[in-house]
Amino acid sequence: MAIIPVPQLSDNYAYLVVDDATRECGVVDCAEADKVLAAVRQHGLKLTTVLPTHYHFDHVGGNEDLVKAIPGLRVYGARGEHGRIPAQTDEVDDGDTVAVGTLRGRVIGIPAHTNGHIAYYFPQLEAVFTGDTLFIAGCGRVFEGKAQTMVESLAKLAALPDTTQVYCGHEYTEKNLRFALTLEPSNQALKDKYEWTRQIRAEGKYSIPSTIGQEKQFNPFLRTDSPELRASLKKLDPALGDDRVAIFAKARELKDRF
Ligand code: ZN
Ligand code: FE
Repeated sequence: MAIIPVPQLSDNYAYLVVDDATRECGVVDCAEADKVLAAVRQHGLKLTTVLPTHYHFDHVGGNEDLVKAIPGLRVYGARGEHGRIPAQTDEVDDGDTVAVGTLRGRVIGIPAHTNGHIAYYFPQLEAVFTGDTLFIAGCGRVFEGKAQTMVESLAKLAALPDTTQVYCGHEYTEKNLRFALTLEPSNQALKDKYEWTRQIRAEGKYSIPSTIGQEKQFNPFLRTDSPELRASLKKLDPALGDDRVAIFAKARELKDRF
């Protein structure tokens, strides 16, 4: 298994990215080092790399403890986070390459939740780690950018191949889908995903991953062209125009209060 989720805090996910060739692994977004190190041991792996998506504590809070436990660990950090990634050793920017054993990942700059938020895309694994930017059926709050910034960042992720698996930073899926249904109550793909998610969550299973292709079918923040979604928003705000960024901003504003 190439990607192993490790639950963190109340609803965060860290992920072990495993290079089967060398049994080396990296960890995306470590909040609690003890749980991550236990998973590394349990699977007989060697942790070499830390891959933070952004500087918020629930994504980097375990970095210092990891480095204490494993001296020499490589800790990547986005230049746009201006040194706020604890224990950072290597600065990266949009378009740069990260390494985990023989695996190679591409850094994609996706600002808006934070100015330096990045995703890691591993073509060999057909997987992207999206942190708090693209969630399953949702997106992150726009803390440091503008609505336009988030629209552009989401578009970069949506441009990845449809088969790309999406591994996000939080288990927010069920609530995201409930919100999405308020905007597109007759979207069948959305209704199906909601039923599926309720069932697997009731069984205590994780809702990750989805795929980029699936997200385009039910994620309201990737569906600003949907006539039903637009009509729902215009019913609430008749002054709302057809501008895609304005549509996105209205949906994001409603979700902030949902
Ligand atoms: Zn965050
Ligand atoms: Fe977070």
